[in-house]
Amino acid sequence: MALTDRHPAHRRDPAAPPAALATLALAHALSAAERGLAVIPLSRTKLPALPSPHRTDPPSAPRCHGECGLPGHGVHDASTDPRRIRALFAAAPRATGYGIACGLPPHHLIGVDLDTKSGTNASASLRELALRHLFTVPDTVVVATPSGGRHLWLTGPPDVVVPNSAGRLAPGIDIRGAGGYLVGPGSRTEHGVYSAVPGTGHLPPAACPPALLRLLSPPPRPQHAAPADPQHGRHGHGLVQFVLGAHEGQRNTRLFWAACRAYESGLGDTLAGPLADAATRTGLTEHEARSTIASAARLTGGR
Ligand SMILES: [Zn+2]
Repeated sequence: MALTDRHPAHRRDPAAPPAALATLALAHALSAAERGLAVIPLSRTKLPALPSPHRTDPPSAPRCHGECGLPGHGVHDASTDPRRIRALFAAAPRATGYGIACGLPPHHLIGVDLDTKSGTNASASLRELALRHLFTVPDTVVVATPSGGRHLWLTGPPDVVVPNSAGRLAPGIDIRGAGGYLVGPGSRTEHGVYSAVPGTGHLPPAACPPALLRLLSPPPRPQHAAPADPQHGRHGHGLVQFVLGAHEGQRNTRLFWAACRAYESGLGDTLAGPLADAATRTGLTEHEARSTIASAARLTGGR
């Protein structure tokens, strides 16, 4: 387009992508948004395409996650609103792809990133995990990455916060959870194009199997809080302290983790009340606390 070609920034940078690529990325992003997936524009390096409005803030400035109302907060910009998405892409003419935010309603997307680099066979590791922990990898959207990797899209329950992790489950398996994003199919990066594996692109993302979800729920912080010996009555006390020590952003995660451990130790019924009380003291509502504990009971078989 003539206007874009005359843009000084474009003239200075011969590697700038043609406007057609940005338009294509926008079209893919809008169709993902139609499926309820919140998106942001990505550059060809797979990083958010919009620069932060706080680049020149002093390091002491409070951290902003978009409260200022400006775009440029990475995954916090993610939206399913077509008007908002068009505005984000209009501000990012160099975008060649889009990211899909994980952990957001309605899907609470969990990305299982199976790497093929560094000699690991992540797909085989996942199959092995499935055999060992007795779950089946469901039919779901699979996205092929330019390096030969695979992204499986799964959905999580609304009351479980799955954190991002790299190689924690097995070598080569990265998890994209709350605060993370997946490169969407149709995105073009410097290494090539991401595309849905034929026959999977139109599947609804499948629910994460409970046994896998338990492996993805956060590990305990190495803290004084929870003594390891479940024989001790102190165990329950430690779990309650662990929940009480949560600050905003980890309250549900900690409660869920503590409740799972309580049910696994056979203390679930005894500790459900104290754990719920502790969680409400950190600011969760009674209803949120009860429903998180109930999902821990379901996932652990309520033992
Ligand atoms: Zn801001």
